[in-house]
This record gives sequence, C-alpha cells and structure tokens, in this order.
Amino acid sequence: MNLDLDEATRARLAQARALGEREMRPLGLEADRLGRPTPADHPFFQRLVQLGLGRTRWTGEGDTEADRAAAGAAPGGASAGAARGGGAVANLLVAEELSYWDRGVAVSFPGPGLGEAPVSAMGTPEQKERFLGPFRAPDRPRWGAFAMTEPGAGSDVAGIRTLARRVAGGWVLHGDKSFAANASRADWIVVFATVDPKRGREGHRAFVVERGTPGLGDFHVEHKMGLKAYESTSFTLRDCFVPDENVLGARAGAASDTGARGAGGPGPPPGGEARAGFKGAMQSFNATRPAIAAMAVGMGRAALDESLRFAREQGLLRDARVRDRLERVRRKLHAARLLCWRAAWLADERRPNVLEASMAKAVAPAAALEAACLGMEILGEAGGRGDHLVEKLFRDAKAMDIVEGTGQIQRIVMARQLVGLPREER
Ligand SMILES: Cc1cc2nc3c(=O)[nH]c(=O)nc-3n(C[C@H](O)[C@H](O)[C@H](O)COP(=O)(O)OP(=O)(O)OC[C@H]3O[C@@H](n4cnc5c(N)ncnc54)[C@H](O)[C@@H]3O)c2cc1C
Repeated sequence: MNLDLDEATRARLAQARALGEREMRPLGLEADRLGRPTPADHPFFQRLVQLGLGRTRWTGEGDTEADRAAAGAAPGGASAGAARGGGAVANLLVAEELSYWDRGVAVSFPGPGLGEAPVSAMGTPEQKERFLGPFRAPDRPRWGAFAMTEPGAGSDVAGIRTLARRVAGGWVLHGDKSFAANASRADWIVVFATVDPKRGREGHRAFVVERGTPGLGDFHVEHKMGLKAYESTSFTLRDCFVPDENVLGARAGAASDTGARGAGGPGPPPGGEARAGFKGAMQSFNATRPAIAAMAVGMGRAALDESLRFAREQGLLRDARVRDRLERVRRKLHAARLLCWRAAWLADERRPNVLEASMAKAVAPAAALEAACLGMEILGEAGGRGDHLVEKLFRDAKAMDIVEGTGQIQRIVMARQLVGLPREER
C-alpha cells in the first residue's frame, strides 16, 4: 500500500487546515453555544463557493468514483499506488482534517452530500445533468440531501414504510423521514420509499424530490446532543407527486408503466436493475464508511491534542500514568487511521473493501470516544463545566458510532463474513 501524497492532495489538506483553524473551529463552537445549525445564508457558505468548494465530483462525463465502480472499472485505475487529488484516500484525508477542526461544520458545507452517490450511480445522463449539473460550478451555496432513515427504520432499512404508489406519469409518496442532513435547505432530496413493504429491500426505489414539491414539508430540525453546526432534519411527504423523470434507475419505458407493474403487481418494478447496480457498487467499493471513520479519527486527534495541552498546562504530564493513558489513545487512533486508509486505498484500487470498511467504522468511533472520555477525566471539573472544547468533542464523537451503520451493525457484518454467512439477513 503506497500512501504517498501528490501535490493536489497536499494543497487540499493545507486549504482544509487553514479554513479549519480560521473559520470552522470558531463556527462550530458558536453553533454549539447557540444550540442551532449555522444558517444557510451565513457568509461562510458563500466564501466556500468562491473557494471552489461545495462542488460535485461528477464532471459531466459520467466519471465519479461511483460511476466507475458501477461500470466495473478495472483495478488499478488512475489512482493506483498513491493518494491522488480526487480519489477515496485523498477525500478521506481531507475529511479527517476538516473533522479535526469541526465535524459539524464540515457536514454543513454546501454540496450534493450523501445524495450524490445514488444520483451518480443510478441516474440517467439527463438526471445527472439536471441534479448534479448545478453543482459543477455553483453560483450560490446549494445543498443536496439523502433520506433513508424513518422514525421506525434506522439500522433495519428493509423496514422503511414511506410508500410509493404508482399513478399516471409518476409516483405518489407518503411517509415520514428523519435525521436527514441539510434537508430543509436542499435543492433536492433523494428519498428512499417502498413500492411494497412486504418485499423488503427489493421493494425500495429512490426518488429525487425537489424543493417546493407540494406535499413535501413539516421540516423540523432535530435537537442533537452534538454536531450542532449542521441540521439533521425530519420531514413529511404527504401524497407528494414525483414525476417519472425523477425516479432514479428507471429504464426507458419501464417508468411510464402504470398500474400492476408499478405498485407491487407482477413483474419487476422500474429501476430494479440499476438499483442492484448501485447496491453492488456501494457494497463492493464502499467509500463512505471509511470516510466517516476517518472523520472520527480527526475528532479523536483533536480531543487528544486538547487533552495534552491541558495536561501540560496543569503539570500533569510528570505523572507516568497520565502519559501512559494518553499514549494508549494515540496508539489506538493511529491503528484506526491505518484501517481507514487501507479501506479507502482498496476502493481506489477498485478492489472489494466491505470487510475493511466495516472494520474501520467499528474501530475508529470507539477510539475517538475513548480519546474524548480520557480528555474529560483529565480535565476533571474543567470538563464538567461544559464550556471546554473537549466536552464538546465528547458529545460530538458519540454520533460517529451511530451514523452510516452503528458499531453493532458493523460487528454483525464482520462476524457473518468471518463464518461465511451471506451479508444481508441477520
Ligand atoms: C447525527 C446523525 C446524522 C444522521 N444523518 C442521516 C442522514 O443524513 N440520512 C439518513 O437517512 N439517516 C441519517 N441518520 C440516521 C442514522 O442512519 C440512524 O440513526 C442509524 O442508522 C441507526 O438507526 P436508529 O437510530 O433507528 O437506531 P436503531 O436501528 O433502532 O438501533 C438502536 C440500537 O440497536 C442496535 N441494533 C439494531 N439492530 C440490531 C441487530 N440486528 N442486532 C443487534 N443490535 C442491533 C443498534 O446498533 C443500536 O445500538 C443520522 C443519525 C444521526 C445520529
């Protein structure tokens, strides 16, 4: 595994560091103190757009990482051997650095967000142009969002209940979604709904629901214990009509079917093949779990640095037990980081990384939490007062074990893999 950084990656890291220190850390602390997300019209977001951030990785030629993976690109593509400016390793390093300064602010950045992967992997060329095109060189801060989770379906995604009913020219969606990042400020939200709850994941389809669509509403920003700088939002879909052109993965002709073939009747519902392609691509070359894990590493590093600073100021580093505990945390963060890099490097090499991605996701948030917990112990009453960065990191870090598959779910995936069981059923 060669992790030499190229110039483009070094430049991105330097930019992340400068931005993080100057703007992200103070913004994150402010949002935490005020207990609300950074408003969408904050000048910070406009500045990010001017810096060329908040863009899609889709270039207009169908070549995002997900596209290439879905197309079964050969191993050892352009990124083979080193962290190139736009590959999974490079993105992961930048994500770690941004999260070192403030993970909540990092997720609030404009961009298509988690909605980018399904659009680029399942969308037709026209859909990519419509939904990702405006993110190529945005004129203003724009957001996309991704809504899978529901009040009654988190880990068990097969249990989603938002219903998609076939009507002439499109679909009618009805249901409730929760905890979708940046949803109320998004131009569009990729909403997962089921054409038939009895079919489990086989019944799932992805719909791009655009802002202002009648029936999309009741946006409610959730109260969170940490990561307050970005909004996690619940919303409702009440008989919300979505035209066929907004169904991801719909094959020509299939999406215009009406009646029986649509809502659970005989024959495959539209979008099945492309959906399977998306699923396969996401499972084989998982780039999001290692990135989330790397964010946790960044947060753990921040907790360690702040704890070290405090311990030094208070003269605590003369105690070998304190030194030993701090070093133990560093060791665990370092090991977690290597797991993240390995998983992302495999993704860049177009090699399956499901196991490594789960390992990174299972290990890194736990290491970050340990770093923050130790920091709280070292701080003592200074931590208990609730106004120290370590205390904020202690609250921020917990969510990293929950998002993108909880630690428990990762352990289930790994244990099943160990004994040769298929991945999906528990
Ligand atoms: C800060 C934050 C941001 C988020 N952002 C988004 C977003 O942008 N879009 C989106 O769609 N969702 C988002 N989510 C939702 C997130 O994906 C879910 O919270 C997560 O999948 C867990 O689901 P749940 O909260 O319903 O917990 P549950 O699934 O109810 O799990 C509760 C507990 O039970 C355990 N458990 C569950 N099933 C099993 C099992 N079979 N065996 C053993 N243990 C099990 C879990 O590990 C967990 O400890 C976000 C959540 C948070 C906290």
